[in-house]
Amino acid sequence: MSFVSQALLFFIGALIGHVLPRFPVLLMSRGRGFNMHFPPHPEPMPLGPHLNQRILHLSTFYRLGLIVVIVPMSVGLASVRWGNPAFGFGLWLSAGWFFINRLQSIISGQAPWTREIAEKLQGVANRSISENQCCAWATPVWGMTRVYCSNCGTKLLAMARPDLGRKRSDGRIIGTLRLLISDGYPMVAMIDSDLFEEE
Ligand SMILES: [Zn+2]
Repeated sequence: MSFVSQALLFFIGALIGHVLPRFPVLLMSRGRGFNMHFPPHPEPMPLGPHLNQRILHLSTFYRLGLIVVIVPMSVGLASVRWGNPAFGFGLWLSAGWFFINRLQSIISGQAPWTREIAEKLQGVANRSISENQCCAWATPVWGMTRVYCSNCGTKLLAMARPDLGRKRSDGRIIGTLRLLISDGYPMVAMIDSDLFEEE
């Protein structure tokens, strides 16, 4: 077999190893039935128990990738030994990279969805019904770059919004590509910038 076709097989293997373990996050919560309690993407997300539950679900799907990745890693190894070595090596390499990368982000608490994020949001939600609320009809929502009150516009928490598992407004293909690039993390890096205000 020529070098070009071997290289192609390597890249196909690497692509499968890259996408397959991300399937839980890419697919599991995008259906209509899962998102009845939420406004359509990319509108601001109201804080509350449904949002917290969604963040915990996404955190579980994110960890589930560590189990799903066992499949491409083993198929990759088997393919190096008994099948096509170029394809198997590509598969094994990108799946192995995914494994190390995800393990590192979970252990260091840097995942796009964590219990800490849900707790922070709960703190803001609690404050909005306490004496310290920003206004009489406090309605905290999570925009792209911050949590704010949709009634009076007060900024309540500077925290960029990760993907929240809704069906994306940019369509299935572009939406999936964006997710593959961002890996669920917020697309905006300017976490606390008054230069970037919305609404
Ligand atoms: Zn308010």
